[in-house]
Amino acid sequence: MPAHVQLPYTTLEVTPVPVQVQLYGLCGGAETDLFFREDVRSQQKALSLCAQCPMQKACLEYAIDNEEYGVWGGTTESQRAALRGKAKLVTPEQRIAAARLRETIIKAELTVKQIAAAHQVTERTVYRYKERMREEGLLPLLAADALKAKRSAKSKSSSSLARKGTPSKTVSKREVA
Ligand code: SF4
Repeated sequence: MPAHVQLPYTTLEVTPVPVQVQLYGLCGGAETDLFFREDVRSQQKALSLCAQCPMQKACLEYAIDNEEYGVWGGTTESQRAALRGKAKLVTPEQRIAAARLRETIIKAELTVKQIAAAHQVTERTVYRYKERMREEGLLPLLAADALKAKRSAKSKSSSSLARKGTPSKTVSKREVA
């Protein structure tokens, strides 16, 4: 695992709650038990915390697929079941498989093809996981992404140099159109 990658949860944890939700969700500092009590008063209290939480959207997206019990992302169990419709919850086995796949990706020892073969998933799935993990800050930018960013910075600086070298010209919106 690259030295700079710090996971706030162990990679073998069966429920990979999104990193941002763990770090910035309001319940990180609250009495978590509150979110799993069944009395209406506690539920309302949990829901009102969710209403002020900056991570509500990400939390709900995760919880619809993964969490059957408790208040998550400003919803109760039954509200999430309604949102989920006929779609099935991610099973514990699927969660474990996902955690293992993420762990293999983080180790960065295998190619995409090898990872796909080892975990019996498609290469597309591996790319999709990598993309999500990059968004979560768990993976560095791809070399290709870094190259693209470098080229774009270079072309910006050369075009600004070119502008400096030529007399300025005001182009009206009409001329452009
Ligand atoms: S939306 Fe609610 S359950 Fe989700 S992180 Fe925020 S406070 Fe916690």
